[in-house]
Amino acid sequence: MKAMGPIPGGFEAGADGSLAIAGTAAEALVELAGGTPLFVYDRQRIGEKVARFRAAMPDNVALHYAVKANPYPSLLTWLASHVDGFDLASGGELLTLEEAGGLACPVSFAGPGKGDWELELAIERGVTINLESEAEAARAIAIADRLGVQPKLAIRVNPPFALKGAGMKMGGLASPFGVDSERVPTLARRIADAGAEWRGLHVYAGSQVLRADAIIEMQRATVALAAEIAGSSGLPIPHLNLGGGFGIPYASGDEPLDLDRVGSALRDTLLDAPDVLNETRYAIELGRWLVGEAGVYLARVVDVKQSGGRTFAITDGGLHHVLAASGNFGQTLRRNYPIANASRFALRSSQVVTVTGCLCTPLDLLGDEVMMPGTRVGDLIAIFCAGAYGKSASPAGFLSQPDARELLV
Ligand SMILES: *Cc1c(COP(=O)(O)O)cnc(C)c1O
Repeated sequence: MKAMGPIPGGFEAGADGSLAIAGTAAEALVELAGGTPLFVYDRQRIGEKVARFRAAMPDNVALHYAVKANPYPSLLTWLASHVDGFDLASGGELLTLEEAGGLACPVSFAGPGKGDWELELAIERGVTINLESEAEAARAIAIADRLGVQPKLAIRVNPPFALKGAGMKMGGLASPFGVDSERVPTLARRIADAGAEWRGLHVYAGSQVLRADAIIEMQRATVALAAEIAGSSGLPIPHLNLGGGFGIPYASGDEPLDLDRVGSALRDTLLDAPDVLNETRYAIELGRWLVGEAGVYLARVVDVKQSGGRTFAITDGGLHHVLAASGNFGQTLRRNYPIANASRFALRSSQVVTVTGCLCTPLDLLGDEVMMPGTRVGDLIAIFCAGAYGKSASPAGFLSQPDARELLV
């Protein structure tokens, strides 16, 4: 038997002994959606996260949602009335967000390699562009001139520090992301001189951090860096996007991030901030911390077989929907996500089962030697922590299997 990650609190069995999500039995949700595999997203859980953020963080820090974590349109529509803004990483996300009614909120757009069509779309829609290079700045200014629109421009800074303990680091190194910090003041002046609306700075140093100290230190360093850039450019910093990086526990031994500590330290950091930042407004952009634990992926057991003394439960799901849960989304070590037999959620675990997807590759491993109640063909398997980097972060075309369904409850 191998360890698995902790099932997020509050998931319980209903009267029939099966897993209930938002008070409804998993099987009933599958029926509602028209079949498996299915992602279910629980609004109330996301709402609780929003409330926790607001309780822990200083009042002048806005909460933005990073659309790339999960761009499911119904989710975006719901979030539009619960968060303060959105952060995009592509023109496609912009169009999805527009369709979902999210463009009434403040929106910014970061990401390397923005195409001219993406810059044009963002400028037309009044989206703030977090510029990733001098060349991108020149293209954005030229496009805005041609359109006769004043663009909203900010600079994404490649900071001289890294976010310690980040699952994915995006700072402190030579990087395709952002402009090296020592060149930012010059570029900021150029943007302001070109007549653009100067919006400020964006620093995003990494993702999936569970250590409060690392985030506290990163936020302090980000505020100090912004003050330094304001000083040397002679420009105010109207907005400072502090990034995010808040992680969630996925695997055995992962401890949840201490949000209250992060919030009170940030309050101190902002109180102590240099006067050049007195007018600055702050934002934190979160994806997985907001929506990750609200999502459950449900797949049905198609076959149960024995091989080499082991029991395999083979489902109709797989890494084409939940690449991260299979351990193939940049992880160096494969560790089991929280996983359960949703049909027998109330039963005691009595059997070691290896749960796989239906793809013809040994990579398609969803639960490696996990403890479960006796599993039969037809049972529903639940993979938790599937609300972020699930469907949209998986190779849906691989093996030409059907798409996953999605449901917001
Ligand atoms: C991916 C990304 C995020 C979201 O990261 P999470 O780990 O999901 O919170 C936020 N900002 C930027 C710039 C990103 O690239």
